[in-house]
Amino acid sequence: MVRAVSGPTSFSGGELAATEHLAALLGSPPRGEVWVGDDAAVLSGREGPLLFATDLLVEGVHFERALSSCADVGWKALASNLSDLAAMGGRPLAAVVALAGASQPDLDSLYEGLLEASRAYSCPLVGGDLSDSPVLVVSIAVLGTTDGRPPVLRSGARPGERLFVTGTLGAAAAGLRLLRVDPAATGELVGAHRRPRPRLGEGIAAASLGASAMIDLSDGLGLDLARLAAASSVGVALEGLPACAGATEEEALGGGEDYELLFSASPEIDVAGEFARLGLRPPIEIGQVVADPATRTLDGEPLPRAGYLHRL
Ligand SMILES: [Mg+2]
Repeated sequence: MVRAVSGPTSFSGGELAATEHLAALLGSPPRGEVWVGDDAAVLSGREGPLLFATDLLVEGVHFERALSSCADVGWKALASNLSDLAAMGGRPLAAVVALAGASQPDLDSLYEGLLEASRAYSCPLVGGDLSDSPVLVVSIAVLGTTDGRPPVLRSGARPGERLFVTGTLGAAAAGLRLLRVDPAATGELVGAHRRPRPRLGEGIAAASLGASAMIDLSDGLGLDLARLAAASSVGVALEGLPACAGATEEEALGGGEDYELLFSASPEIDVAGEFARLGLRPPIEIGQVVADPATRTLDGEPLPRAGYLHRL
């Protein structure tokens, strides 16, 4: 997430504590369902699992109007939601869009980007809601399916498995850094910040080959890797950091908004071969899952704490 301005802390303990609090309020899901705590909720559909996810972009918190057009914000809002479906090994069925604080020109520009992403990722926009607001707010909910496959949760990683990411990291954060220096900047890094690509094909490929756990990298590898490790009760030992050209190590580890997928898979699976057979870029192997949940290392050294946690 872009954090132009951090909001006031309104829940002691921040986003993680708030999520745990809400999970307790909502209670336990029925058998076979997953509610709070993964990339998307998993519901029991008549023909297999359904995925249900939502995401919120707030002007001044997640985006700055000076650095992104409303069309870019619209694209990114849908793309980040679709990334949560990708992280479960799913594909989209439909989305609804709620907008607050959008003038008529804003609305047209937002929908230009929303519809481009809708067409690019075959996710029809089927309705929504409008409201007044002092700042622009875009909230999207997406429905998806795994086409009968079990969804890939964050909790399935086991010691001895290998860890992969679907691309190099840090491009979006580097792009934002360039835009802050020069709002007229262009190029691949700026494009990665404004128009992230949800890795839907890669997510389905990982699920099909038997990935044991998966998460999308929305808040930075450091934080999202810790989330996957905690959900799986395992440790992680990274062997190098796949920073993209032009990004710093800090941006690769903690920048966020890359929307690449991180997954674990048994060393017996030919992950690169499976991706190549599907015409996808081979994932980058970044390390391994270890038994001790206290282990979080990068090249043998303690993994720096990095990544974006909403303060709420
Ligand atoms: Mg996610």
